[in-house]
Amino acid sequence: TPEQLAEVARAAVLLDGVKHMVLTTGTPPTKDRGAQILCESAFAIKAAVDLPIQAQCEPPDDDKWFERMRASGIDTLGMHLEVVTPALREQIMPGKASVPISRYMEAFRAAVAVFGRGQVSTYILAGLGDTAEAILSISRELVDLGVYPFVVPFVPISGTPLEDHPAPSPEFMKSVLQPLGAMVSAGGIRSADIKAGCGKCGACSSLSSYEV
Ligand code: SF4
Repeated sequence: TPEQLAEVARAAVLLDGVKHMVLTTGTPPTKDRGAQILCESAFAIKAAVDLPIQAQCEPPDDDKWFERMRASGIDTLGMHLEVVTPALREQIMPGKASVPISRYMEAFRAAVAVFGRGQVSTYILAGLGDTAEAILSISRELVDLGVYPFVVPFVPISGTPLEDHPAPSPEFMKSVLQPLGAMVSAGGIRSADIKAGCGKCGACSSLSSYEV
C-alpha cells in the first residue's frame, strides 16, 4: 500500500541515507498505465519524508496525469522506449509496441512542459538489434525535446525469454555513448542535474562518464 511504501522510504532515508527513489509500475492494463497508484504512492511518501522521487510508467491515456503526478510530489518521470526501431518493437515486445513511438514523443513533450528539461527520461536498451545510428537519431529528437535518453547495455538474464541474446560489445556501447554524452551535454541535460531516478543513479550505464 502507499502507506507501507512511505514507511519503507522513511526507514531507507533514516537508516541508509538514501537520496532518491524510483517508483515503477510495470505494464498495467489500465488506461492510466499506473499513473493513479504512482500519484497515491508519491503523495504518501512525501508526507512521510522529503525524498526526491522518480515515477516510471508508459504514456498514460491523458497528458493531464503529468500535472497530477507533479502535484503529488513526483519530481522526475521515466517513460521507457527500450527499443526504438518500430519493427523490432513489434517483434521483441508486442504488448508495449501497441503504444506507438509517436505517442511517446507527444507524451514526452507534454511531460517536459510539467517536469522541466532534463527531468524526463527514457531507458533505451542497446544490444537488442537497434543500430547505433537509430539510437543516436532518436536521441537527437529526445534531447531537443528536453528528454534524457538513458542508453543502457542489454544484459541477458537466465530464465527470461532473451536469456540467449548476447550483450552488446564494449565497442558498440562506446560508439553510442561517446556521441550521446556530447549530445546531452550540449543540450544542457546532464545526469548530475537530474533530481531522481535512473539517469541520476547511473549504475546501469556509463553514459555520465562521457558527459562533458
Ligand atoms: S540506473 Fe539501474 S540501478 Fe539505478 S535506479 Fe535505474 S534501474 Fe536501478
